[in-house]
Amino acid sequence: MSEAKIGRRNWLKLGGLGGAAALLGSCEKKVAAAGGKSEVRGIVFMVSDGMSNGVLTMAENFSHMVRKKGTRWWQLIGNPASARGLMECSSADSFVTDSSAAASAWGGGVKINNGAVNVRPNGSESTPIMRHLKKLGHRTGLVTTATITHATPAGFAAVSESRQDEHLIAPQYLGVVDLLMGGGMDFFSPQKRIDSRDVLTPFTNAGYELIENRDALLASKSEKMLGLFSGGHIPFELDRLNDPELMKKIPTLAEMSGVALANLLNHPEKFLLQIEGARIDHAAHANDAAGLLWDQLAFDDALAKVLEMTADSEDILVIVTSDHGNANPGLNGTGNSYVESNKIFGSIARSTASYDKILQIWSNSSDNSPERLAAIIKDKLSFTLKPKEIAELYSSITNGQVTEWSKQLDNPNGLLGQFAGNHTGIGWTGTSHTSDATMISAIGPQAERFSGIVPNQEVHRHFLELLG
Ligand SMILES: [Zn+2]
Repeated sequence: MSEAKIGRRNWLKLGGLGGAAALLGSCEKKVAAAGGKSEVRGIVFMVSDGMSNGVLTMAENFSHMVRKKGTRWWQLIGNPASARGLMECSSADSFVTDSSAAASAWGGGVKINNGAVNVRPNGSESTPIMRHLKKLGHRTGLVTTATITHATPAGFAAVSESRQDEHLIAPQYLGVVDLLMGGGMDFFSPQKRIDSRDVLTPFTNAGYELIENRDALLASKSEKMLGLFSGGHIPFELDRLNDPELMKKIPTLAEMSGVALANLLNHPEKFLLQIEGARIDHAAHANDAAGLLWDQLAFDDALAKVLEMTADSEDILVIVTSDHGNANPGLNGTGNSYVESNKIFGSIARSTASYDKILQIWSNSSDNSPERLAAIIKDKLSFTLKPKEIAELYSSITNGQVTEWSKQLDNPNGLLGQFAGNHTGIGWTGTSHTSDATMISAIGPQAERFSGIVPNQEVHRHFLELLG
């Protein structure tokens, strides 16, 4: 057993060196008994951003179809040892939260208005949880598939009147977050920042290793890491899986999570690690079923990795949840007695590009005709749009007249989502966040705190009581 596994508080309770020496060579369970089973040394807080509840079932079914196994989150909910509840996630000014207000409620302990990061409606600031924990000598980590300066990670470590000011959020992580992994080089590099300020050198001067590709990440043993794997967000998992160059350069969410967690487990300090599957939200805004499901499976792989790495640790609490619903997708029953449902749902597996990528390929192509767009959709999504559909889609993209009754769906994503739904069975309520409470599961010491209805700002209190 390593000293790391004993934990600071156990160490103190055991009377420092003498007590710890007595433990060396004994098994982990005895450590737990000595320290009390409810002792928490570390918390892994996992967020599938914008995951509506229907995604859980669709991901479970999709996983069985494409990987011949179920999802880890589904299994966790079925485990009687786990706590299960609903995360209440309104913001101060709306039943429908955005990610910055939600993350600020978790990170700062107060409901605030949408769009802000730890700035209250009256203008005063909340102290983000990681700033507080850092003062206590704990270790911290943020892992995401968005820019690392995006709303959800920012809510744990930064303060900003606007979530859009990512260039102001980047320098705030210095000395507050030990492990940073995600996209967002554009907010650190002087060549890319709007103010040309060099935010990278202060990090490297402070001992952070700047890591820019998968191999370097997997090889790194540095105590502090600044892992920036793309200028903006990390590509959708579906696009990564279909591009050998991206596969080589960009680590998976599970790989980033594994490196971050191993690092934290190998140090004796208490820790808080936030892991975000960010692009589930973006795919839901885009009404992109394949993009959504592949990113949810990538998030589930990260959860599987975390649960595997902490299986023998009795002092690590793992929490998995979402910050809000988004577009509430669901599989509609299709055919006589719904017998066609499985088959058409399974057709999602034939998609080889996100909607984002499809529109990118089309707009970068020398031929920007509607016919060319239809051909790319046929190639990447494996279905053929009717002439009227492609005409409406083209019209929507070029700001022309469109036949659409729902204002939520009156945009290119909303239209393509509906056309695709005729081939996949997936329907969407809109292209924006929804007010639904989200799922929360927890396992480990004091997991029961996260059962029942959990108001999102209460998570902060639990963090303080467990790690503060
Ligand atoms: Zn969103």
